[in-house]
Amino acid sequence: MNRKAFIAGNWKMFKTRAEAQATVRELVRLVGDGREVDLVVCPPFTVLWAVREVVRGTAVQLGAQNVHWEEQGAYTGEVSVSMLLDCGCRYAIVGHSERRQFFHESDEAINLKLKKVLSTELLPILCVGESLEQREADQVQEVVLGQLERAMKELTAPQASRVIIAYEPVWAIGTGKTATPELAQEVHCILRRWLSNHYSDALAAQTRILYGGSVKPENARRLMAQEDIDGALVGGASLDPQLFAKIVKETLTNIN
Ligand code: PEP
Repeated sequence: MNRKAFIAGNWKMFKTRAEAQATVRELVRLVGDGREVDLVVCPPFTVLWAVREVVRGTAVQLGAQNVHWEEQGAYTGEVSVSMLLDCGCRYAIVGHSERRQFFHESDEAINLKLKKVLSTELLPILCVGESLEQREADQVQEVVLGQLERAMKELTAPQASRVIIAYEPVWAIGTGKTATPELAQEVHCILRRWLSNHYSDALAAQTRILYGGSVKPENARRLMAQEDIDGALVGGASLDPQLFAKIVKETLTNIN
């Protein structure tokens, strides 16, 4: 099955309006019209609109880093799906490990968010991944499948078919440590097998599963060469348009 490569940049809590626009302008210049890959940037909420102005009509698409599950209401500090759609977002990251770790986001909340996102035309990028202690205790499969199962609870096959999954080992995020391509492939294969068992072979075969955790131009090609790795969720390196564009180039080189 030929899955279109997908590369998303998670800018986390970085960049003011001027910085964001300059970054994305340079990115657009560097990647040109390359639509062989789905290329997404996920800036902070405050600059979504400003980034949209720059990327409109280009190959770069827009995503959000988080979303709330209610349509609207008294939820101070939160942002709804309608607000994201209004800003031109097509994607929303759900369940990033930093949200789980620092903001105590539970699998139940992640499940509510996924359901809400899937009730609109937004597409979720669902993050799962184990901590270093869990890996050392040989609990990787149990942890990632538990997260996946609870996050995707009660999703119908049509809903599940729209989920993009990101495997992001927590110990590799922002640490400079990358999972070896073989270690990452092993987990991607486990995730795809779960989709096959719970939904269908066809759904598993078409689902894009991204790797995230210190992806850089130097390691991108070998990661992307793995059978079940369909792209990357990139944090630190996505803040620099040169590095991010190189990752895109490495991915495309690998596909072609
Ligand atoms: C991330 O934020 O999802 C991530 C993978 O970060 P980094 O690439 O910096 O490890």
